[in-house]
Amino acid sequence: MGSECSSKSETWGTVSMRQERNTAIVLAAGQGKRMNSKIQKQFLEVGGKPVLYYSLRCFQDSPLIKEIILVTAGNMISFCREKIIDKYGFSKVSRVIPGGRERYDSVYAGLLACADSDYVLIHDGARPFITEEILQRGMEGVRETGACVVGMPSKDTVKLADARGFVAETPDRKRVWTIQTPQIFAYSLIRSSHESIRKKDMSQITDDAMVVEQETGAKIRLVEGSYMNLKITTPEDLSVAEIFLNIYQSK
Ligand code: C5P
Repeated sequence: MGSECSSKSETWGTVSMRQERNTAIVLAAGQGKRMNSKIQKQFLEVGGKPVLYYSLRCFQDSPLIKEIILVTAGNMISFCREKIIDKYGFSKVSRVIPGGRERYDSVYAGLLACADSDYVLIHDGARPFITEEILQRGMEGVRETGACVVGMPSKDTVKLADARGFVAETPDRKRVWTIQTPQIFAYSLIRSSHESIRKKDMSQITDDAMVVEQETGAKIRLVEGSYMNLKITTPEDLSVAEIFLNIYQSK
């Protein structure tokens, strides 16, 4: 990328649209125990297609995305290739790799597989209803500081509980967001954050932004995702997803 690449290290914003090499890391290696199903949630069907199909379709069709890395369980790699990638012509999927025990292990495996990226968009394969508009807002956000997460203002009041099950605190609802994916980072920022946190206790890590929060002082931009950008987790989410699909496909 020559001399223009060196200017990137001065500020994230200087990677021009034309140069950007953006990789989606799509996570589909979870066992999904809360679904009580033999089939992992990302492979259950909504509207006759696997849940994983929909986010891959969005990344495949987005001009913002150069490449997709799919992370799945070792014994699902050939299924993903035959029944999803080849079947639906997802030509941007350059690698299908085995994930790890925890979500952050799967993310790390994905990061190792795309070291030439400018930005990575880490996405739960169990969240089918992302849109090009969400990707655009996320990319605008990440160009500011190198870190951006998608979420929505909480509709419910949130309480923090103490260890004995009593209310400890009520945060101001106007400042409470529930966080979704994609979570988008400058590659060098998220890779170096993972390298340093992996030497420590990661048991409290539940999303990608936490890795950056704990290991760097980087500011993380919050941008709106959508209330339809749900993560399929429990059986009732599948019924909701069938309803959302009609709205999603009519847009
Ligand atoms: O379990 P959870 O709902 O947090 O999973 C979110 C996403 O991360 C899912 O798409 C799941 O397949 C993925 N995951 C993974 N590797 C793991 C655990 C979860 O790729 N070890």
